[in-house]
Amino acid sequence: MCYVNVLTLRKEEKNKTLRIFFPSFCSNDPHSINEQVILDVRTKYKNSFNLKNVMMWYTHIIFGLLLGLVSLRFIPQSHPLLYLFFVSVAALLPDIDHPHSFINQRIAPTRFVSHFLTHRGFFHSLFPVFLLYLFVVPLHKDVALALSLGYLSHILIDGCTKSGVNLFHPLGTLRLQGFIKTGSLAELVVFGFLLVGVVLLTF
Ligand SMILES: [Zn+2]
Repeated sequence: MCYVNVLTLRKEEKNKTLRIFFPSFCSNDPHSINEQVILDVRTKYKNSFNLKNVMMWYTHIIFGLLLGLVSLRFIPQSHPLLYLFFVSVAALLPDIDHPHSFINQRIAPTRFVSHFLTHRGFFHSLFPVFLLYLFVVPLHKDVALALSLGYLSHILIDGCTKSGVNLFHPLGTLRLQGFIKTGSLAELVVFGFLLVGVVLLTF
């Protein structure tokens, strides 16, 4: 018999209380949650505690749009706007694993995922890109391409941040890492360049 612990931990940065569900820290005795367990949780899920470890939603959308526009040059679509819409939506999906991401702040049920998985783990690997394509391609080839491309764009640009991503989590340790600090001026500058790129490709 295993109790599921719901730990309530204080968030130092904003003095908020963050409730996180940690199935991997279940024990037979609900009173066994001590300081060491809390410390272990903090270490294991440190990315989830760091509110600043998420790129801005608009950076993801703009990079998704940029890749979408580039792809349209090679693979023309009969409904390019719809195609770009799917790319943009998919560009936000990977952050479903962070409780404070844009998507989780607006669609409460999706927060469920962030309770079980660590931020920048499986959902920030290449596996969901392939899975998304494989599942959607029987339904619609172009939508499958748009969704997987948008998703991939998120992984690639997160891979340019200091925290980086593990491309084959949990099976491998190939990290993609860059120099951008999330939420910083550098990210805004990158956003500016991407915006210029999108404008140039649009007109
Ligand atoms: Zn992300």
